[in-house]
Amino acid sequence: MRIASHHVPGTPEHDLSSMLGGNAKYEPECAWPSDCTVQWGHGIIPAVPFFEAFPAGTFIRGEGETIAEAERQAFAQYLQDIACNHVWGRFRPGSVTYTNGAAFCRKCGGFRSRMFPEIRDLGWWRKPLSDMEAWHLKSIEENHELGAIMDRKYPADRERRARTGRVLRLRFNVFGKADDDSD
Ligand SMILES: [Zn+2]
Repeated sequence: MRIASHHVPGTPEHDLSSMLGGNAKYEPECAWPSDCTVQWGHGIIPAVPFFEAFPAGTFIRGEGETIAEAERQAFAQYLQDIACNHVWGRFRPGSVTYTNGAAFCRKCGGFRSRMFPEIRDLGWWRKPLSDMEAWHLKSIEENHELGAIMDRKYPADRERRARTGRVLRLRFNVFGKADDDSD
C-alpha cells in the first residue's frame, strides 16, 4: 500500500497536517494492494474515526470506534468488492442515476469512477468557455511543467487530458469566452 504523504514524517504535507492537529498516528494492519493509497483520521464533524483506501478506480471508506476498527471495516468492503463478479450500471442503489461515468455494482454496491462515457446534453459544447474552463485551457496549453507532473503521476489519464485540451481549444476558437462567470 501507499501511505498518503500527510502521514509520512518529513514531507511538507505531514508538517502541515501535524500543525493543524489532524495527524493521527497509526500503522495500517491489513493487506492492501501495493498501488492502493490509504489515509485515516478521527474525523471532525462528526468526530468518527475513519480509514479511507483508494484501490485502482475506486474509493472505500470505513468508520468505527477506533481507526483500527475503521480499517478492518474498510478492508472487509475491499474483500467483498474483489470477490464479486460485478455487474456495473449507472444507477446507484437507493439513489439516482449518475451521468458522469461513475458505475455502481448491482450485486455488491461497489463503485468505480469513469467506468462509462459521460452522458451530456446534445450540443453541450456549443457555448463559450466559462472563466474556469478558460483557466483550465490556459493551464493545459501553457503549464508544461504541471502537464509533465500529471502525465508522470496519472499516465492512464494522459489521453483524456489531451482530449479535454483539444475540445476546450476548439470551443474557444469557435465560441470564445463568456463575458461573465454565469456558467
Ligand atoms: Zn459487485
